[in-house]
This record gives sequence, structure tokens and C-alpha cells, in this order.
Amino acid sequence: MSDALEVLNPATEELVAVVPAATRDDVDAAVVRATAAQRAWAAAAPADRARLLRRFAAVVDGHIEELALLEVREAGHTIGNARWEAGNVRDVLDFAAGGVERLSGRQIPVAGGIDVTFLEPLGVIGVIAPWNFPMPIAAWGLAPALAAGNAVILKPAETTPLTALRLAELALEAGLPEHLFQVLPGRGEVAGDALVEHPGVAKIVFTGSTRIGKRIMAKCADRVKRLTLELGGKNPNIVFADADLEAAAASAPMSFLDNTGQDCCARTRILVQRSAYDRFMELLAPAVEKVVVGDPYDENTQLGPLISRVQLDRVRSYVTDGLTVVRGTAPEGPGFWYPPTLVTGVDPTAAIATEEVFGPVAVVLPFEDEEDAVRLANATDYGLAGSLWTRDVGRALRVSRAVAAGNLSVNSHSSVRYWTPFGGYKQSGLGRELGPDSLTAFTETKNVFISTEA
Ligand code: NAD
Repeated sequence: MSDALEVLNPATEELVAVVPAATRDDVDAAVVRATAAQRAWAAAAPADRARLLRRFAAVVDGHIEELALLEVREAGHTIGNARWEAGNVRDVLDFAAGGVERLSGRQIPVAGGIDVTFLEPLGVIGVIAPWNFPMPIAAWGLAPALAAGNAVILKPAETTPLTALRLAELALEAGLPEHLFQVLPGRGEVAGDALVEHPGVAKIVFTGSTRIGKRIMAKCADRVKRLTLELGGKNPNIVFADADLEAAAASAPMSFLDNTGQDCCARTRILVQRSAYDRFMELLAPAVEKVVVGDPYDENTQLGPLISRVQLDRVRSYVTDGLTVVRGTAPEGPGFWYPPTLVTGVDPTAAIATEEVFGPVAVVLPFEDEEDAVRLANATDYGLAGSLWTRDVGRALRVSRAVAAGNLSVNSHSSVRYWTPFGGYKQSGLGRELGPDSLTAFTETKNVFISTEA
């Protein structure tokens, strides 16, 4: 019997859909179709490509509510978050469409002729997406890749294929050429691996765990295949004693709890200057306890369930007996629920303080001074994001420059804007997505010298 993926509603454990899983042969066939579609797409006038991508964005805009409801069903996201995620797909498509006609090479002064560069599309791009933000993360790869003249094959995560499949339908409805953007739900070690190994796939865009990312990187090395990696994070939220402690404490809960903590940018290491530690905890603990966890369809809900039983067991395994915890509440009964949890009094080198839990759990650690804060912030193999809270502008700049991470925010927890670059230092990733250079990442630069002396 052929393999199939079972999609469960994480809030109820009910079966939502059964989706056939793509085989290696399916990937081969998709690459053949994508290769033909890409040639025609790259040859089309930039204005036409831009217009079609804008139309795709407009069709997505007309289906925000439908896409959001689908994401609530398959991923348990709160309805508010899911609407933002669908809107982000629209925005990323619009932004990429604006780049099609601006993707220019350069003319470089040389003797004896002229020298020009061309930014040529790579060909077929394989986008391998995770389950934590199925729609936005897919869009961050597919939109700029298409805009730069490539074809895209998207492999969504096993647990969340439904919004990706719907986006492929909407692309056709918008008039994108057939086979230019294909979605192949399937298993990582089958369809994902087939994309990574396929000689007809020019670049892999992978978002997921650092463990799988390293394996994919090693396989890409065989062919010098182009690669973008967006991996895990264990991001610090550094609170200095001179900060607006009320504001810092009020914003800290959702900085690690949003999307039930299943966010590579979650600020899960709260570092607090010792002189302000007690006061900060007085403010933070009740703020965590009152976070609303429950039915994701309810507009007032702040946190839904975790994605799966596997993830629930994984989160539980970190919060062991004997730890000092502050806990919020979570529903009983079916569904993969876990309460908001703060852990204090742990050693900074403990697994819970250094590994990505990917659940609604943060540790709070004290530090002495600025130097100590930077040392602790950097005491991890990850380097994706971080926040710092201070009223001292000089310190804000010094610490922002000293923390080895790709996305820092001062007196805020923002990480992702589609028009600014996003990506990780160290083992949090390779390359950047989004921002002004997002299309260039899907091109090869060709240099041509034309002699004027022949
Ligand atoms: P994962 O790395 O196992 O899966 C991510 C994607 O890669 C999925 O589409 C999966 O099917 C695919 N994949 C798996 N094995 C593959 C292979 N051998 N070749 C090609 N593709 C393969 O991540 P996960 O199981 O979804 O989550 C595990 C952990 O990863 C999480 O608990 C979390 O720590 C981390 N994670 C991080 C992010 C992030 O945005 N940084 C996202 C999801 C998960």
C-alpha cells in the first residue's frame, strides 16, 4: 500500500485529512516538469512575471480567512496568528514581485571594452519547510525564488501539508504557469532527501532542526549544491537593571510563548541583571500565569496546543521533577497541551538552558554586569535572535554588536519583517532570507566582458 500522511488537529487529536506521501519517483517527475516550466518563466518579460506574482498575492489576500482556518485545523495556531501568517504570504509575494523589474546586474569600468554582470536564475529550487510556521516559511523561499526566475518544488512538513497544497491551487488560480510552483507533501527522509540529492535541483532552502540541517549541508557538499539553512535558536532576552522593568516584564511572556514556543526566535533564555532580578520576577511570574491557553478559534486565546504528541513528550522531557517552576494553565483532555512554564535556579549549562525545547518554556538566569550578560548570551551554539532591554543607548549599541546573533531587537522583541534580512549566526543557519537581497540569493552572477577592440 502506498504511504500516506495523517494530519491531526492538535487541539482535539481528530483526523483532519489523509494526504498521499510523495515517492522518489514523484520527485523525479516533478523536477522534469519544473525544469520545462522554469525555462519559459525565465524567458518571459519581467513585467509579466511581476504582474503574475502580484496577482498571486491578490488571490492569497482574497483567501486569508480560509487559509487561516486551515492552519488552525492542521497546526493548532491561534486564529489571530494564523491570519497574520496568511497575510505574511501575501506581503512576501508582493514584496518579491516588486523586485522582478529591479533585479539588475552592473556595468563595471574596464579597459578595452565593457564589462557587465547578469543575475541569472538558478533553475529549480527545492524548499523544505517545517511545521511551526508552514505558510510564512514556505513563502520566504518560494516568493523570491519565483521572482528571480526560478521554478519551485515545496516539500511541507509531514504534519502540516494542507495550507501548502492550497497555496499551490491559488497560484494556478492567479494564472501562474502550470508546474512552476509544485507542492509535494512527503516524508523528510524520502521526498525531502530526494530533492536534496536530485542533480536537477539547483538549490535547497531548508528550515528545521540543526540536526537535519547539518545532514542536508553534508549532502549538498557532494554537488556543491547551493543552500540556505534556517535552523534552531536559544535566544536571549537580556534585561538590564536600568531598563523599564514593567515594560520588559509585560512583553517577556509572549516573546517565548507565542506560537506555543514553537518559534526559532522564541526568547527562551531570560537573562536578568542580579540587582533587578527579584523585582523583575515579581512582575514576570503573574504575567506568565495569566496567559490565556485554550481553543485556538477563540479570538481571546493567546496560546494553542503543541503540534504533536512527539513534541509534547519532548517538551515534558526537559521539565523534570525537582526544577523550580512557575506555571500557567492549560486545558485538560484531548489535544497536545502544555502550560506556559518559567524555570528558575538552573545551571546555565543545563540542557534546558542550552538546547532548543520548542515549547512554552523559558529559563530565567541572573547576570552581574554587561560583560557577564554578553558572555552568557553567547554561551550557546545557536545565534539566531535576541533582545535587550536598557535605557542606555550606548549600552544598547555595544551589546547589540557583541551578541553573536543575526537578529537583535532593543526594547522590543521583533525579529521578522519581510523587508529586512533574517537569518542565523553560528549553528542557527547559513545565508539570509527576506530583506532587500532576497531575490539575489536565488541567482548566479555571470560576468561578461565585451571587447571594443576586435
Ligand atoms: P526537522 O528538521 O525534522 O524537519 C523539518 C523539515 O525537514 C520537514 O519538512 C521534514 O520532513 C524535513 N526533513 C526531515 N528529514 C529530512 C531529510 N533527511 N532530508 C530532507 N528533509 C528532511 O524538524 P521537525 O521534526 O519538524 O522538528 C524537530 C526540531 O527542529 C524541533 O523540535 C525544533 O527544535 C527544530 N525546528 C526548528 C525550526 C526553525 O524554524 N528553526 C522549525 C521546525 C523545527
